[in-house]
Amino acid sequence: MTIGGRAVQGATSFEVRNPANGQVIGTAPNGSRDDLAAAVAAAQKAFTSWSQKSDDELAAACRAVTEKIGAHAEELARLLTLEQGKPLNGLGSRWELGGAAAWAGATAALSLPPRVLQDNAQGHVEIFRKPVGVVGSITPWNFPVLIAVWHVLPALRTGNTVVIKPSPYTPLATLRFVELLNEVLPEGVVNSVSCDDRTSNLGADMATDPIIRKIVFTGSCATGKKVMQSAASTMKRLTLELGGNDAGIVLPDADPKAIAEGLFWGAFLNNGQTCAAMKRLYVHASIHDDVCEHLAAFAKQVPMGDGMDEKNVLGPVQNRMQFDKVARLVADAKTKGQLLTGGEPGEGLFFPATIVAGLKNGDALVDEEQFGPALPIIRYTDVEDAIRAANDSENGLGGSVWSKDIEHARRIASRLECGSVWINKHGAIQPNAPFGGVKASGLGVEFAEEGLKEYTDAQVIFS
Ligand code: NAD
Repeated sequence: MTIGGRAVQGATSFEVRNPANGQVIGTAPNGSRDDLAAAVAAAQKAFTSWSQKSDDELAAACRAVTEKIGAHAEELARLLTLEQGKPLNGLGSRWELGGAAAWAGATAALSLPPRVLQDNAQGHVEIFRKPVGVVGSITPWNFPVLIAVWHVLPALRTGNTVVIKPSPYTPLATLRFVELLNEVLPEGVVNSVSCDDRTSNLGADMATDPIIRKIVFTGSCATGKKVMQSAASTMKRLTLELGGNDAGIVLPDADPKAIAEGLFWGAFLNNGQTCAAMKRLYVHASIHDDVCEHLAAFAKQVPMGDGMDEKNVLGPVQNRMQFDKVARLVADAKTKGQLLTGGEPGEGLFFPATIVAGLKNGDALVDEEQFGPALPIIRYTDVEDAIRAANDSENGLGGSVWSKDIEHARRIASRLECGSVWINKHGAIQPNAPFGGVKASGLGVEFAEEGLKEYTDAQVIFS
């Protein structure tokens, strides 16, 4: 861990395993409540001077962080593959590190200058955005480095200091990332703590901590709700990026062959362990069989295996809990629909890309967030039914519409209850577009100026 600029070992540690082969690849500190208190105190102390930095100084610091990420991208990518399982290649860990540097650079270039609301004989009214203080960041195991950048960079850019706690499944790349940041930032500005959630839960402690002023949390809906409850007593600011059950709707005029690759990666990016992956696919009856055929054919030729082997573009499921969930949902789906490809658990944590047609809303693989390599296909005849079924979910993160007629697709997009809708692609986020969920998928947005504002409180000065 890095606390107040110093490396802290922790009294005990826990093992981190490579999901591709089960081997221990390292250990991480099992931090205590005292370690968390020290990290929060260090961040609070650093806030005094960090929050007084000029806008230019904060932007320059974020640029220095961006350079650090770029210079250590390959090292971090390798660590990420070893602990997360995603391949080095394809849309894997090198791609994640590319995104991390791109997002960091884009955040450095943002700013929230003061705005004059009134300037006349009656008075001068101006709005300023002020940092909130110590920000607690809690991250999941699917995109550990990229999500750390999404949390930490906007906090720094707006003059806050940070304590970050990675998932116990994937702590190592994040701990190293924070160590690297400390080479270019003053001590205490970014601190890390890690713990084995089975023996201590520093995430829960962060949510009730009286000094932490904001929690930015990315993870499951269930944990997000707990964070929201815990944060109420200290009136913390919250950004919650939670689970999704994104629907894709294929309209009758789409070209099944041309869209197969986009559909596949929309659903199977990071082995489906992606918040805004396509998790249900509604296909018009007139092209249903063709879409199934082309999608299954594409899925069958995607190489899966140990992520350190450059030829693979899909790796294992990250952990046993998630693997068992996918296996349970697929076993149930096979009794209700037609298996198009995959379906049988492989060696260790490898689960082949699985597609099951003939399902409907109410089936577990359609209703629950699988967060893994299994896609249900639902046939529809009336697009109104498809829209209703897509919206019949407590989640509302993303969605997509697939059609040659972009205007028609846009009209359908506007009726989907979710924060982002893509046309003829799925899940393509970018740093200049706010991203967040509606309904149970979260609170607030990340990225762009809208995301930056969430790390600030407004102050209006009347003179
Ligand atoms: P999770 O909720 O199990 O864990 C997330 C983090 O919360 C971990 O660091 C964990 O240690 C910590 N935590 C556990 N209990 C806690 C508590 N009581 N209080 C505070 N923190 C606690 O989620 P996960 O399994 O790591 O991630 C998968 C989920 O994350 C999926 O549902 C996925 O859709 C979602 N996700 C959402 C986005 C998004 O941007 N909307 C992005 C990535 C992942």
